[in-house]
Amino acid sequence: MEFSEVYCFNCKKILGRYNTKFYSEDRINELVNTTYSTHIRNGHQVNIRKFEKN
Ligand SMILES: [Zn+2]
Repeated sequence: MEFSEVYCFNCKKILGRYNTKFYSEDRINELVNTTYSTHIRNGHQVNIRKFEKN
């Protein structure tokens, strides 16, 4: 299974993991902008990276 991981460099933690089967890239971007908006507003660098997990 392929997951998209939302990671914050400033907090040094994973904010969330989303199965790409259920969440499109656009949906994840939308989630980042809404759910994790406080990080972005605080100038945190939020990154989305993909990884495979079986
Ligand atoms: Zn953060």
